[in-house]
Amino acid sequence: QPGRTLQLRVVPFGDDQKLLLTRDITQLEKLETMRRDFVANVSHEMKTPLTVIHGFLETLEDALPDLPQEQALSFIRMAQQQSVRMQRLVDDLLTLSALETDTPTPEEKVDMRNLLDIVLVETKALSSGRHTVSLTVEGAPGVLLGCARDLRSALGNLASNAVRYTPDGGTLKLDWRVVDGCGEFSVTDNGIGIDAAHIPRLTERFYRVDRGRSRETGGTGLGLAIVKHVLERHQATLQIDSEPGRGSRFTVRFPARRTLAG
Ligand code: ADP
Repeated sequence: QPGRTLQLRVVPFGDDQKLLLTRDITQLEKLETMRRDFVANVSHEMKTPLTVIHGFLETLEDALPDLPQEQALSFIRMAQQQSVRMQRLVDDLLTLSALETDTPTPEEKVDMRNLLDIVLVETKALSSGRHTVSLTVEGAPGVLLGCARDLRSALGNLASNAVRYTPDGGTLKLDWRVVDGCGEFSVTDNGIGIDAAHIPRLTERFYRVDRGRSRETGGTGLGLAIVKHVLERHQATLQIDSEPGRGSRFTVRFPARRTLAG
């Protein structure tokens, strides 16, 4: 078959007969390529901040006696910024690997009023007055059955992306409602938007539309991969609607069995 890889093995059989064994290793090869790409990506993401930190430390060591204090401090701050970036990357990698284990998702009763308020406060803090941020809750917020920590991280990631990809002065809307017994959370921004061609790949690890912008705003490229895993573990779906230059909407739908009335 075209596009498939077969492994052939000849095994002696009886006195003078041979057995030809074939094995389809297409999927195995694909997994191996993905693993290799992932390791290469992680190494690359680590290497950039490490190179910067190393460079600043070396400069400080060589030039310290003559370096004005202000300048030395600015080098130290830049090295610190890079170490924060590495820390964030390692944190996201650990979160992802924890999400990939087979341990079942706890079924805690997550108070949505509380969760939405936390996401709102965090979103406002990240925006620090640069955007108009609002939360609309239709009816009683109710309760979700799931993992409080993971849900907070998933909904928070969507909201923080809206902040990071919306220019100053923009508007961010968080919405929660229950439709036909299913919880629905959405984040709408009027930011830079996303070209349709990128949308199917956004939840891949390290996939970014604009690497520079993602890095500038402190992105690790793993946020939506984490969102995808958390949602899968809650049997929830993610819908992405976006138009370049106009904005985006990310909508999460939870199944009815996880959505409890307040
Ligand atoms: P990153 O750390 O790069 O933000 P994510 O996995 O959270 O990583 O997102 C992947 C990519 O999806 C981003 O690099 C960005 O290009 C795009 N993206 C995510 N959210 C938005 C949004 N609200 N508006 C525009 N682009 C977005």
